[in-house]
Amino acid sequence: MSQETEHVQCLIIGSGPAGYTAAIYAARADLKPVMYTGMQPGGQLTQTTEVDNFPGYPGGITGPEMMEDFRKQAERFGTDVRFGYVSSVDFSSLPHKVVVDEIKTITADTVIISTGATAKWLGLPSEQQYNGFGVSACAVCDGFFFKGQDVAIVGAGDTAAEEATYLAKLCRKVYMLVRRDEFRASKAMVHRVLNTPNIEVIYNTEAKEILGNGKNVTGIRALNNQTGVETDIPVEGFFVAIGHKPNTDIFQGWLDMDETGYLKTVPGSTKTNIEGVFACGDVQDHYYRQAITAAGSGCMAALDAERYLAAKEDHVNVLS
Ligand code: NDP
Repeated sequence: MSQETEHVQCLIIGSGPAGYTAAIYAARADLKPVMYTGMQPGGQLTQTTEVDNFPGYPGGITGPEMMEDFRKQAERFGTDVRFGYVSSVDFSSLPHKVVVDEIKTITADTVIISTGATAKWLGLPSEQQYNGFGVSACAVCDGFFFKGQDVAIVGAGDTAAEEATYLAKLCRKVYMLVRRDEFRASKAMVHRVLNTPNIEVIYNTEAKEILGNGKNVTGIRALNNQTGVETDIPVEGFFVAIGHKPNTDIFQGWLDMDETGYLKTVPGSTKTNIEGVFACGDVQDHYYRQAITAAGSGCMAALDAERYLAAKEDHVNVLS
């Protein structure tokens, strides 16, 4: 049961690039935003090593350091950043109700959702061990580090197909492990993969183990699930592209989602189907999924929230 109640103008749920950018803009617009970080403050970027593609960092920066910079900038303008997770929401009436850590109820005039998505992993201990040291779930983020080298990628959906062709432009050779005898990806994407000379598709094959020297990845042990034959393939990088899960469980029944759980927003805006509730970043974008696009949509969410509140105030002034 919730015990305490507090009212805020703008509540931001989630602390990745989208949430922090929304916070910077909302704080500067004097909305006095309160942010709940979630259980992984900083989000997915805190699990990466170098970030070289975020404008403004000419020498590159580590993911955790970059998220520290985002947090400091949001706090500099007065964002109240709090550690905690939102356990449930009630969007049935205004103001919106949000329960934090299962005990505290916040009422909010506007809610900005930036809870992100979580990459799916194979679940191998060696995958965890070498995460950030040759293992990655984002080719666009980390492919550059494997320029001219050999890599492997697992997955057979559109993401894997797109990432394999991206990697093929940078790497010498890309081994693509497909667990069935066919792709899930669209025909056009499969055509592109099959027509890229330095991608070798290996069907009916799973990654059984990531091999390494204790520091970096040196190869993968591939298992043919039809014959049971295991083969070690020497590679420097291993990319997991088996899908993402948007962090939207608590919004089920309140917000419109697509069939895979991503929040739907009105095209060209961050508005959801509920008045005063906005969504930004990966939680509403399975397509671009970059820190910079998330940050851009975070800015949009804060502007949408500010304009929504201003329009409501104008309405009240006209009536009074
Ligand atoms: P998907 O869920 O579409 O595909 C996941 C892939 O990973 C499947 O091929 C699946 O295999 C495979 N997989 C899952 N678990 C494992 C495992 N443990 N070991 C090996 N392989 C595994 O996810 P995507 O991220 O590819 O795409 C998500 C959505 O985004 C889709 O709707 C897609 O169309 C869309 N998208 C569109 C793009 C575009 O239009 N350009 C680009 C990127 C994404 P199996 O097939 O055997 O189940």
